[in-house]
Amino acid sequence: GGGVIGCAIAYELAKAGLAVTLVERGTPGCEASSAGAGMLAPQAESSAASPRLGLGLASKALYADLALELRERTGLDIEYETGGNLHCFLDEGDEAVGRAACAWQREAGLKAELLSRADALALEPDLSPEVRGALFLPEDHWVNNPRLVTALATAAALERVRFVTGEATVLVRAGDRVTGVQVGEDQIRAALVVLAAGAWSGQLAATAGLRLPVGPVRGQIVCLEGIPRRHRHLLHIKDHYLVSRVNGEILIGASVEWAGFAKQVTAEYVRSALDAAIRLAPALARLPIKATWAGFRPWAPDERPIIGAWPGLDGLVIATGHFRNGILWAPITARLIRELLVERAPSMDITPFLPDRFAK
Ligand SMILES: Cc1cc2nc3c(=O)[nH]c(=O)nc-3n(C[C@H](O)[C@H](O)[C@H](O)COP(=O)(O)OP(=O)(O)OC[C@H]3O[C@@H](n4cnc5c(N)ncnc54)[C@H](O)[C@@H]3O)c2cc1C
Repeated sequence: GGGVIGCAIAYELAKAGLAVTLVERGTPGCEASSAGAGMLAPQAESSAASPRLGLGLASKALYADLALELRERTGLDIEYETGGNLHCFLDEGDEAVGRAACAWQREAGLKAELLSRADALALEPDLSPEVRGALFLPEDHWVNNPRLVTALATAAALERVRFVTGEATVLVRAGDRVTGVQVGEDQIRAALVVLAAGAWSGQLAATAGLRLPVGPVRGQIVCLEGIPRRHRHLLHIKDHYLVSRVNGEILIGASVEWAGFAKQVTAEYVRSALDAAIRLAPALARLPIKATWAGFRPWAPDERPIIGAWPGLDGLVIATGHFRNGILWAPITARLIRELLVERAPSMDITPFLPDRFAK
């Protein structure tokens, strides 16, 4: 799969000298990896210290160098932005949640700050007077994720990754070994297959008789056209967030829905997104709607990514289940897969992410 995970891994492995073929049925980034909002927000995405938080912090730390490297190699700017994340409070409930988050994050050694209404408005003058304060997480960042996937795919091509456009219909298995994938009439043989097919990974694993419980969780986004650019921070209000891109786009995300593979934008979601955004920053009401879209997050039941070799079977490595954080976790996933395959020693404890927990 040529999403952010497959492209990041292909690039990393090719740089390490491996011969890589990437099979993608559409174009690189055509699914969740372009539908996402691009937040690199391990702190906002965590409610306690956990292995997921550690993975997110380790991955975010790779982004500044990755942005430079991709710019040098491909000429593409992934718009890595470091403005930080403002969680705005509208009522006492929000404030209580923000205070608790601030407390545990500081205890965990992370930067977090409670802001008064005046301080929040000083950072983002667009905010409604209804905002009574905010939790500021200065080290949550973001990128332009469609550009990121394009840059990774371009860099991978420059490293001689072979791109095959077509649908992998079967993971080919000979006894206790996966030997390749079937694409149309062709069988692509490989010493090793990395399964990185996003929300479709469970279906593809099933063709080799494996039970990998990964499926789609739909996310919808409404995109406004806000030129000139209005916000310099990620903004959160209750269940919604706003991501401001360099080109003036303001993404209002996102729903979290178990709706199968129905790629629909619903009236209900559009209404809730616009209500939230306009409540947070009333001037947004006058902006044109540029686009709406939906995508499928690859979800595993324990909401942890699945990274590592499938136990008891040679030739198959899994890299999926990145759910709400695949853009954030892509660089560390690629690095860990390279360390597993080339150095044979991952630089961090990946026990919580191994596929072993499902391979029963
Ligand atoms: C609305 C929304 C908002 C999000 N916001 C964020 C965010 O702010 N920050 C963040 O970190 N993450 C975010 N995410 C999550 C993130 O986008 C995903 O975790 C990530 O994109 C998953 O990447 P992937 O490569 O595993 O999957 P995908 O991008 O879905 O890629 C899988 C690829 O495999 C291909 N494929 C599938 N089956 C086959 C087959 N049989 N043969 C050939 N090709 C195949 C598909 O065409 C696809 O291109 C968001 C997701 C959504 C939907």
